[in-house]
Amino acid sequence: MTAPLTIAIDGPSGSGKSSVSKAVARRLGVGYLDTGAMYRALTWWCLERGLDLSDTEAVAAAARELPLVISTDPDDPTVTVDGTDVGEAIRSTRVSTAVSAVATNLEVRSVLRVLQRDLMARAAEQSGGVVAEGRDITTVVAPDARVRVLLTASEDARLRRRSAELHGATDATAVEATRDQVVRRDRDDSTVSSFTEAAPGVTLVDTSELDFDESVEAVLDVVAAETAEPVG
Ligand code: C5P
Repeated sequence: MTAPLTIAIDGPSGSGKSSVSKAVARRLGVGYLDTGAMYRALTWWCLERGLDLSDTEAVAAAARELPLVISTDPDDPTVTVDGTDVGEAIRSTRVSTAVSAVATNLEVRSVLRVLQRDLMARAAEQSGGVVAEGRDITTVVAPDARVRVLLTASEDARLRRRSAELHGATDATAVEATRDQVVRRDRDDSTVSSFTEAAPGVTLVDTSELDFDESVEAVLDVVAAETAEPVG
């Protein structure tokens, strides 16, 4: 029996990580896990319940109790909390602005890490593999993944992409309005995860000059190269 095809992809905000990872999972016919959605879902739930996000104990307790159901089907990546579909709500500016406060809580990270490993194992069992993406998948959650990729892009390219996504424009005002969600969030997240430089054994894919399809192909090339049987 061949080992499951586990693929770990990390990267900063706006690197194209989520959309590229999802497309790679589809192309390979394997599962897909968006770990950022899990931090976002917890943040949404804490805000809904009026928790003070600086109360690390209360937020860690919420992580342990989180009634989260997350699909690992790349064609239908739904996220529900206590039966409520939060797919849209977790992308709101309110959640994006607050998520780093939750994600820098080390107790939260250890709770979600266990869940993430479990979800990856189940998805791999069901479909023969999984693409999991986030900030610490290549280094902490799945350092033993068969393929590990760090997806990057210049700050300029990342700001423009997120700005187009959030505001439908890339003029100076729109880009400035996006800065908090890209630069400040990554700076805060960097205090607990390392996703700006590739760790040993992790392949760097720079998408600054690549469009979406080219980025997907670049990651598929890495997968093909790293899973090829050695010749001779
Ligand atoms: O990838 P996305 O932007 O949806 O991630 C949302 C947030 O979740 C990040 O800004 C970060 O705070 C947190 N995160 C994390 N570790 C991961 C994935 C996401 O800390 N593996």
